[in-house]
Amino acid sequence: MYVEFNVVKRLGDFQLAAKGRVEEGVTCVVGPNGSGKTTLMKILAGLLKPDSGRVEYVGVSSRVYVGDFYTPPEATGLDVVLAGRTRFGRRPVGREDVEKAAEYAELLEAADLLKRRISTLSGGQRQRLVIAAALASEADLLLLDEPLSNLHGDWRGRVMEVLRGLSRGRLVVVSTHHGDVLKCCHYVLQMENGVVAWLGPSADYQPRLAEAECGGSR
Ligand code: ADP
Ligand code: MG
Repeated sequence: MYVEFNVVKRLGDFQLAAKGRVEEGVTCVVGPNGSGKTTLMKILAGLLKPDSGRVEYVGVSSRVYVGDFYTPPEATGLDVVLAGRTRFGRRPVGREDVEKAAEYAELLEAADLLKRRISTLSGGQRQRLVIAAALASEADLLLLDEPLSNLHGDWRGRVMEVLRGLSRGRLVVVSTHHGDVLKCCHYVLQMENGVVAWLGPSADYQPRLAEAECGGSR
């Protein structure tokens, strides 16, 4: 299974012209702000239509993108994870969905957050629920746009471990500014000015100095 893309998309003054292939496992998408990470991920998710080119999905029948995810303050943790379970659609939920939601929350040590109101949670707790929601979708292609931004170093590593553990027979794409998690990915895809500047196994990735020294240790 894989996703192959060769796409062009213009947004205002910005142009994405990206070509590459996402393989089974965890791919970390890195690159400076405005380099096109979100644009590429939304195209892979089918949420943005490229102006030209195409995306070929081989062995991938379902895809979910989770980025800035609005959680109404009165919602509970369970509501959030269930939203992922229904792939953010409107279908009614059943008992199995609730069980699955609890299972994925447990993986992120968020089981005790399911009954809490979102407004009472910290940014990190909320983020773990959103990640659990994405996982609960059980989509073949999971696109998580900066899921680690509100998590401290220890939690970032634990989340990456969970993602790796679930990445067999699945494509997991994670954008991040944290250089410290790159060793947890199978592949790194580096964006720069709208193009794929580097793509390959994480073991072969040599971060640019500016990224490694400044972006990686925060
Ligand atoms: P990243 O996720 O790497 O920070 P984005 O893909 O979000 O980058 O954005 C790439 C560029 O496209 C940025 O310069 C951004 O300002 C621009 N952009 C994104 N969406 C739009 C839009 N709807 N209209 C105009 N410009 C956009
Ligand atoms: Mg972005």
